[in-house]
Amino acid sequence: MSENQESAEIEVKILPEIGEKPHQPNITFKKSLLFGTQRNFQYKWFSQFKWLHYNEALDKAYCFSCITCIKENLSLKNFSKAIAFTYKGFNLWHKGIERFKLHENSIEHKEAILKIEAKKATPIDEKLLIQREKQRATNRKCFMMLLENIRFLCVRNIAFQGTDKENSNFYTLAELIGKYDSDLQKWIGKERGSYMDHKIQNEILTLMADRLLHEHIMKKIHDADFYTIMCDETTDISNQG
Ligand SMILES: [Zn+2]
Repeated sequence: MSENQESAEIEVKILPEIGEKPHQPNITFKKSLLFGTQRNFQYKWFSQFKWLHYNEALDKAYCFSCITCIKENLSLKNFSKAIAFTYKGFNLWHKGIERFKLHENSIEHKEAILKIEAKKATPIDEKLLIQREKQRATNRKCFMMLLENIRFLCVRNIAFQGTDKENSNFYTLAELIGKYDSDLQKWIGKERGSYMDHKIQNEILTLMADRLLHEHIMKKIHDADFYTIMCDETTDISNQG
């Protein structure tokens, strides 16, 4: 390969800067003499071929999608076939529509469009995953607050239920904590299923009691030589034990 050929090869491999979207200015386009006739780029082509990117300095048209694909290393299988609209730039205006249609229907261009769409879809999936994880963490935090609420009432032997749900000690205490935690406030507002329901509270109490029994009391029983059992019963304000 001669030096001249090598420099031509390097020159042709430089992609133009394209920015964030196709450059489609409404200007007076430069006229060039082509086969004895003055020709220029037509503004109306932009509406038909959305991917057209016009470089004012070079007076050439490019494919924004194919260039994006190459720049982002989305590896077009055979981008050399799309070279007129990527590395070289197109300015044979007398064949404009004919060549734009050919490029738009080429395998390379269609592949570029598909790859860009696929890449766009990924960040949305990631955003959804992040959002879901945030929601999960918020749910966990609020649930732990309600567990603390239950433990507090239980340890102090305070009745959970009142004449109705909104007047219960459990609910009013959760509302009080919710004044200082907007997540919990929203959680209570939505009720998060039926976590505020007394049936769920009873289930949580049973689970807490089981764990306490297994982890602490049973250990003490196993460790002790002698033990006694005392049973007592109490009811809360609504007369529900
Ligand atoms: Zn293209």
